[in-house]
Amino acid sequence: MDTKVLIPTAENIAYAAHLIEQGDVVGIPTETVYGLAASAFDESAVEKIFLAKGRPQDNPLIVHIASLDMLPLVAADIPETAKQLAERFWPGPLTIIFNKSDRIPPAVTAGLSTVAVRFPSHKVAQALILKTGLPLAAPSANRSGAPSTTTALHVYNDMKGRIPAILDGGSCTYGLESTVILLNGAGDVTLLRPGAVTVEMLKEAVPHVTIDDGVLHEIKAGTQALSPGMMHKHYSPKTNVVILDASLPAFLSFVNSHADESVGAMVFDGEETALKVPFVTYGAANDPMAQARLLFQSLRAVDALGVQTIYARMPRRDGVGLAIYNRLLRAAGFEVIRL
Ligand code: AMP
Ligand code: MG
Repeated sequence: MDTKVLIPTAENIAYAAHLIEQGDVVGIPTETVYGLAASAFDESAVEKIFLAKGRPQDNPLIVHIASLDMLPLVAADIPETAKQLAERFWPGPLTIIFNKSDRIPPAVTAGLSTVAVRFPSHKVAQALILKTGLPLAAPSANRSGAPSTTTALHVYNDMKGRIPAILDGGSCTYGLESTVILLNGAGDVTLLRPGAVTVEMLKEAVPHVTIDDGVLHEIKAGTQALSPGMMHKHYSPKTNVVILDASLPAFLSFVNSHADESVGAMVFDGEETALKVPFVTYGAANDPMAQARLLFQSLRAVDALGVQTIYARMPRRDGVGLAIYNRLLRAAGFEVIRL
């Protein structure tokens, strides 16, 4: 299969919509990361997404809508808190879990009775959804286990020959997948995946926000995860990633003392001048939004360094930093060394 990379003109968006209407999968830009989109109502199209990604069947997809009017098509009931959160954070990088409507086939939700829904702010994603008139199921557009894709070129590298087309919307604004939340009957929020809608922002909107254990800890085999995606290997380059929880001087002296042992470093901007090993940078130490934008791109660049182990600087864990730490922890297979 030839994979076309298309500038998102009205004509190309119409072409992509046509592909989706006939049951195909298209790579699309969103403000979080690129997605692999198919009609959420079309079971066999959704199965093509799993095939293109090599995604485990038990990992459910997020359904994307482009107006609040589309929500009742996919969600069976809409709690008051969800309405308030949608009003405050949609369109944007927040995914809310609802009881699913009958029209959503089990392939989308991996057999769960709930469905994850998001209203993206990206104009191309919105235009495509509106053109098809369909809710689009779309996971991140990477091969399963690999870092997510934040440019059309990343999508092309992972998906060439697997999907017919990619809409090129440039680099993603946030560069990290959406925040995923679950609501209980009392309107309390459980955070399943941190993102650019931060815990601090959610706490301004609802009285109680609990961070699920799976956000920062490895889920033991055999335990039921609230978010099935937490069980799987994620975001990983081929190179072994290890996080060093250390001051900058301690980090530099540890890494430099291993300088001839196939070791590399993933550091914040400017810190590389003191390094004696190959490196990638991922934004300024005091700029979590820049780190978010660069994280997956940097993880993708790691394998080109030709080292066996990459030691990464520890991000801060408040605000968007929590999301960066969550992704990096998984990329590192939870390997953190405290110096
Ligand atoms: P991705 O599509 O790669 O952004 O991953 C989607 C994330 O949303 C995964 O971590 C899933 O586990 C999570 N997710 C999707 N649907 C549900 C659901 N019904 N309940 C809980 N988590 C979900
Ligand atoms: Mg993903």
